[in-house]
Amino acid sequence: MTGIKQDTTEIAIVGAGPAGVSAAVTAARAGAKVTLVDESASAGGQYYKQPALAERDHKYPDSLASNIQQGRELLAGLNHPGIDTQCNTLVWNVSAEELVLNLCGPTGAWALEAERIIFSTGAYERVMPFPGWTLPGVITAGGAQLMLKGQGLLPGRRFLLAGTGPLLQVAAVQLLEAGGDIAAIVELQSRIEFLRLASRLWGHWDKLGHGITNRKKLLQAKVPFKYGHAIVCAQGEEEVSRAVIMKIDGDGHPLPGSETTLEVDTICLNYGFIPATELPGIAGCEQYFDYNFGAYATKIDENLETSVAGIFAAGETCGIGGADVALLEGQLAGAVAVRQLGFDPEVDEDVLHRKQLQARTVAATLGKMFPVKPGLCALAGDDVPVCRCEGVSAGEVRTAIRMGVTQLNQLKPWTRVGMGRCQGRICGEVLRQIVAHETGSDVQEILPFTPRAPVKPVLLEAVGGAVADAAELTWEDHIGGYGVART
Ligand SMILES: Cc1cc2nc3c(=O)[nH]c(=O)nc-3n(C[C@H](O)[C@H](O)[C@H](O)COP(=O)(O)OP(=O)(O)OC[C@H]3O[C@@H](n4cnc5c(N)ncnc54)[C@H](O)[C@@H]3O)c2cc1C
Repeated sequence: MTGIKQDTTEIAIVGAGPAGVSAAVTAARAGAKVTLVDESASAGGQYYKQPALAERDHKYPDSLASNIQQGRELLAGLNHPGIDTQCNTLVWNVSAEELVLNLCGPTGAWALEAERIIFSTGAYERVMPFPGWTLPGVITAGGAQLMLKGQGLLPGRRFLLAGTGPLLQVAAVQLLEAGGDIAAIVELQSRIEFLRLASRLWGHWDKLGHGITNRKKLLQAKVPFKYGHAIVCAQGEEEVSRAVIMKIDGDGHPLPGSETTLEVDTICLNYGFIPATELPGIAGCEQYFDYNFGAYATKIDENLETSVAGIFAAGETCGIGGADVALLEGQLAGAVAVRQLGFDPEVDEDVLHRKQLQARTVAATLGKMFPVKPGLCALAGDDVPVCRCEGVSAGEVRTAIRMGVTQLNQLKPWTRVGMGRCQGRICGEVLRQIVAHETGSDVQEILPFTPRAPVKPVLLEAVGGAVADAAELTWEDHIGGYGVART
């Protein structure tokens, strides 16, 4: 590559969520030179997302204000001379052999060589498609939270929250306190399924207490809970005006005759989370299938080291665990990484290990409580788009499967799924579910798309170095770049 600025650091951390920030603070306090990179405008990640500058004085409801304040306290640790925080900066590639990251930010493209790398790239929300899911007004629950926290905006007036897992309830309380009207919370698990596994949380009073407090607020506001239901259709002319929900059986198939229509202008979906593993994947870090959450994640050892020497991972990229896990793993990864470089971190790694294992056990229980049910795939009828970027329908995907496709990497060249702007981040998990459902395979057998650089769209200049003025290029420049097609 030509014209790319080069820099060096001791510890490079990708992702400034709870895991990345706590890793950076731990490493810098031990004396290491740290570079913390995040593509967002400010540090905090998903859980500790901070308001944009213009919204700092906005009056936030209690549930958000306390979360924003906790985040501020954590982020204050970044005011350390040893930490260089680079926001608005995407890491689009990694070379594992040289421990070099390729970045693209406000000052252009650059490369960062590190002695140790920590990936703390977080997770994405999982959605399941249904007729009308591409209408304006259908968003994710996390997307609604980001609008509330980041911009002080209520994304609608009357909301339906649908999917499975604790985020539905958390987001509903935040929307309610911000002035929203909640038509219903639609939870995939039946009440019996939910209660059977909830008993495993006995003793974890903080988690239970949190859930009960939120539940009380929603009951006081008379928000209906629809257990064992799923959203099956969003309706409206140009945007959402109604949602149809149905009862489902144990496998997630809708039960005929159980339709209920609700007047809503916003539908917030969340079917759990999927670890963001593209960069560890490009680096060659081994992945494992996390049965608790039904998704592939980055494999780490007890020291948070991946299978690639010099590369660590912490937080959601190693498996969905929540903010508590991310904070502990960040500290641990930061401590072990700097210890390898000869520094003496101020933390007790044995205590951190113990707490991390406990926190992961609770997270695994929560994951088991909220599985995605395979019957939901049937909601994506043949005319329903499943890859929004490339406009590929579920029917086109099923045709390819009938012709012999059994993996996502085969589906990609056949239909163009996953080749658009999101690079499979939204559709990838949906497609894994559909392929598994159609082929009768275990979803574990259906591998995610192979990650490729650039992990997200970047300027051509970032990938290829400074771009010459086209008018100055000669024919030889062109064939020099692409090779000779004909002789
Ligand atoms: C949308 C959403 C909403 C959530 N809401 C809640 C909630 O209300 N309550 C709760 O308990 N948990 C919530 N979670 C889960 C919670 O966010 C996590 O448990 C916690 O934030 C995990 O911390 P982390 O540091 O692992 O990752 P994150 O906080 O997700 O941080 C990862 C960071 O990495 C950055 N990043 C990723 N890839 C790159 C790249 N290539 N280049 C540069 N930067 C990159 C991202 O911008 C992000 O800031 C939510 C998760 C999501 C995805």
